[in-house]
Amino acid sequence: MTSSPEISLRQAGPADWPAISALLSALQLPLDGAREHLAHFLLAHQGGELVGCAGIERHGDIGLLRSVAVAPGLQRQGLGRRLLAPLLAEARQRGLRQVYLLTTTAADYFARLGFTRVERVALPAALQASAELRGACPASATAMLLSWAAEPAAGPNGELPVAVLGAGPVGLAAAAHLLERGITPLILEAGASVGAHLLDYGHVRLFSPWRYNIDAAMARQLQAAGWQAPPADELPLAREVVERVLRPYAALPAVAAALQLSTRVSAISREGFDKVKSAGREQAPFLIRAEQADGRVAELRARAVIDATGTWGQPNPAGAAGLPAVGERELAARIAYGIPDVLGTQRARYAGRRTLVVGAGHSAANALLALAELAQQAPGTRLAWATRSAAPTRAFGGGALDALPARGQLGSALQALQAQGRLEFFGGLRIAALREEENGSLTVQGQDLTLGGFDELIVATGQRPDLDLTRELRLQLDPWLESAAALGPLIDPNLHSCGTVRAHGHRELAHPEPGFYTLGVKSYGRAPTFLMATGFEQARSVVAALAGDLVAADRVELDLPETGVCSAGELGGIGSGATGGSCCGPAPVAASQPSASPGCGSACAPAQPRTSCCG
Ligand SMILES: Cc1cc2nc3c(=O)[nH]c(=O)nc-3n(C[C@H](O)[C@H](O)[C@H](O)COP(=O)(O)OP(=O)(O)OC[C@H]3O[C@@H](n4cnc5c(N)ncnc54)[C@H](O)[C@@H]3O)c2cc1C
Repeated sequence: MTSSPEISLRQAGPADWPAISALLSALQLPLDGAREHLAHFLLAHQGGELVGCAGIERHGDIGLLRSVAVAPGLQRQGLGRRLLAPLLAEARQRGLRQVYLLTTTAADYFARLGFTRVERVALPAALQASAELRGACPASATAMLLSWAAEPAAGPNGELPVAVLGAGPVGLAAAAHLLERGITPLILEAGASVGAHLLDYGHVRLFSPWRYNIDAAMARQLQAAGWQAPPADELPLAREVVERVLRPYAALPAVAAALQLSTRVSAISREGFDKVKSAGREQAPFLIRAEQADGRVAELRARAVIDATGTWGQPNPAGAAGLPAVGERELAARIAYGIPDVLGTQRARYAGRRTLVVGAGHSAANALLALAELAQQAPGTRLAWATRSAAPTRAFGGGALDALPARGQLGSALQALQAQGRLEFFGGLRIAALREEENGSLTVQGQDLTLGGFDELIVATGQRPDLDLTRELRLQLDPWLESAAALGPLIDPNLHSCGTVRAHGHRELAHPEPGFYTLGVKSYGRAPTFLMATGFEQARSVVAALAGDLVAADRVELDLPETGVCSAGELGGIGSGATGGSCCGPAPVAASQPSASPGCGSACAPAQPRTSCCG
């Protein structure tokens, strides 16, 4: 038996180009731009013949993996991995944070190596110089990313960065304010794109116009790079906020350098200090544990942490007790949580079927209106709606009185749907159990009411924060909303259907753990009344406090739509707890007024009369 000659690996040199180009051409891989990057190519030779190659184009600290080629007779024998492992390890060692690639045929192969698919528009501006991106690779090629949670660079004075967890609108706003103050952020985002939660309900039209959906610091930095703001009064789809603001912002070099995608934070603590240990605690850096797409776990250090991870990833269950209803977990395949794209990607699931939507907020309204439209297009489509409250009045909201007209219209359209008999309504359903009947239909068992004969269930009962992340930190939360403690009395949906909240900043958002803040929709815990503009103001104030500028931190610069709904008389006031939506937004706030004084907390919050529409 004759054995094949050994395969050896070595770095490429200029003299290797004819053999490399012949191999790439034979495999129909692009040649454009490859020669300029030969210094970062690794070659495999067998018996003096080139049998494999792989290269990385380096653009700052971002790489583009390209020209991964194995001679046909040696494919599927592990040679690709033998080339890629040292090539990627060396790239990481030399400071590359992210490596992208484009592939037309091997996406599954690279996924097994830890790369995740990203949309092509998400490719950073730094790569635009690459010939491969400028046309050598077809537009239909799949873009993929491998990112490493590197120990972040120290700031100008050697200090640790401020970690921002979550690159949604509020996390990126916090990063924008940090950058403006010369503080190095470290942005960790679980999704493969910024704004991952907004993309999940990307088909939903928001009810606040652009003017309220763009943070001022982000806009300033984007404008300096030649960006055009979208029309102030138009209502964007949720995905347009990502496409037109968050992604362009994330592509700015300073932001791209600070951002680590596909990095899910699983826990935060103080280095060397569990929750019980006090002496010296405040001097210890925060320790952040994060899981990357390939399963590797990284530990990162930061001098302060801003948790803006949202709540969309933790939907409330259907069970009225706040626990999953009996049978709910087993029937997961028949249940959608949130707002499925009924008229788009999920159309086949709902067309011609009978669906029960559970919940009394905007998400339920959105789902019902989409199902009603589908019912007009697809015969046999039927929709039913169940709320915990006996009457759906609260879900109809403030109608024409709402200062955000689109939000008012959502409730009015839902009310019209019910008045026209285009949906079945069931009030007073407190779900205890779900089961599948022998004929495959779903039965929903309430405490006092049992409904049956459904094909699908959409549960739109709100979200709750992930508190596991912060188990080792000393937090002070509202006992039932799980919001920042000082915010609880201001936003309690038992008291305020309107989400009335006076402007607030770093003092209300502080915890007994110095340097840790929860911002954005997560700061509201289970309350459903958050608006992005509130989060932008939170970010501005908290970052000013972290920068030591307490004058700016205590100033209130909130510009929210005024709403007359809260003083407009009875809306029904049937409390649906934290699972319903609000009828309206925050109350008007005078610009530039001082916020609560230190230690004031909830005691300073004006009591809301229970007889108003908010009660
Ligand atoms: C259907 C719907 C419509 C809405 N419409 C409006 C509107 O019209 N106007 C308005 O002002 N507000 C609206 N809101 C409310 C609110 O403004 C949005 O929810 C907004 O996206 C909140 O921003 P955020 O940055 O706090 O959180 P999110 O947008 O939820 O962003 C959180 C980010 O953190 C990431 N993340 C989560 N867990 C981790 C982890 N463990 N590690 C790292 N990253 C993590 C997520 O992937 C996500 O990218 C709406 C909300 C919903 C659900």
